[in-house]
Amino acid sequence: MFDKFAFIDEEMTRLREASLLNNPRVMGSPADGWMVVDGKRVLNFCANNYLGLANHPRLKEAAHAAIERWGAGPAAVRTLAGTQALHCELEARLARFKGVESALFLGSGFVANQAVIPPLVGKEDVIFSDRLNHASIIDGARLSGAKIIVYEHNDAADCEARIREHLPNYRRGLLVTDGVFSMDGDIAPLDKLTEVAARHGVMTMVDDAHGEGVLGRNGRGIVDHFGLHGVFDIEIGTFSKAFGVIGGAIAGKKRVIDYIRQKARPMLFSSATTPADTAACLAAIDLLEESGERVTRLWENTRLFSAAMRKMGFDVGASSTPIVPVMLGDAALAKRFSQALFDEGVFAVAIGFPTVPQGKARIRVMNTAAHSPEDLETGLAAFERVGRALGVIA
Ligand SMILES: *Cc1c(COP(=O)(O)O)cnc(C)c1O
Repeated sequence: MFDKFAFIDEEMTRLREASLLNNPRVMGSPADGWMVVDGKRVLNFCANNYLGLANHPRLKEAAHAAIERWGAGPAAVRTLAGTQALHCELEARLARFKGVESALFLGSGFVANQAVIPPLVGKEDVIFSDRLNHASIIDGARLSGAKIIVYEHNDAADCEARIREHLPNYRRGLLVTDGVFSMDGDIAPLDKLTEVAARHGVMTMVDDAHGEGVLGRNGRGIVDHFGLHGVFDIEIGTFSKAFGVIGGAIAGKKRVIDYIRQKARPMLFSSATTPADTAACLAAIDLLEESGERVTRLWENTRLFSAAMRKMGFDVGASSTPIVPVMLGDAALAKRFSQALFDEGVFAVAIGFPTVPQGKARIRVMNTAAHSPEDLETGLAAFERVGRALGVIA
């Protein structure tokens, strides 16, 4: 009989043979510098927990208190009965923290990109998108129906050439880029891109998921890092990484955010975040406003780790942030490397296609303020042993 699901077996076999099948390990403890992974206590180098806030007592206390005060869930979308006073407080606090007129809080960073792009551009418009932009930007852009023109990675001159060529054929344009590129750890040249966009009257949007809590004063993000307050149009952020919780944010001028609030489909059709999450996000902002100490420690760890890796002879690409890719090329080698590290008590995942281009497989190391200098030594020693054993370094 005709097997209508035969295509699934074919695709699963193809993925397995290409070493591209995802077999997620299972966490047995909270996200932290050290974790229990598949039953083994290991040094964790792959969470986005840049500031060590995911298991912070202040965030947990805030979540507990919010459950008592506000319940387990809002049970409604934001535009109907789901906007709790907590959401308004978080949006006001986030706007103040980032130095913008207004901010909108949504379920996740992924959702924020779906929410913001379709109201800004449609079929008659054009999006200028960095070649290495995150999947959620690409999906948001596709959802809008606008023409998508890809410019070369972090290349403001190429971006301007594409704008010159294509913008005249469309009603309006949107330039969109990741802030910190999540697989390479390099930073978008936001200053140059802003100038280019301004020359051509193109709207600007940056997804700062990996810069939030990492770049700028006390982790205020990439716009703060470049001093572009009030100049750069739209900043997408996430509370799911450095902030250690969950949630997405859209920040910018009140005129724009008020409009997104009316039009964004996730605002209209997806329920509001839980009180526990919202309150924990507020506690994370409190901590960052009180002290930049965790951000400083994150960067100290990053500098130490990157310098040592380069010195050992590893190729860490163009990284200039706490994301340090260890370039290996071959997906099977990357998987073997990750497994050997795990056997040594170090957890760092291999990343392959389609998350990164074919032939660009790597181990991605995420530094965190949760590591002590001794932890870093432990991790570096494991990288050295495995790198030698697999012939990656001499
Ligand atoms: C992780 C990430 C997202 C998704 O954020 P979530 O809050 O986890 O949904 C969006 N954009 C970029 C660039 C990311 O790295």
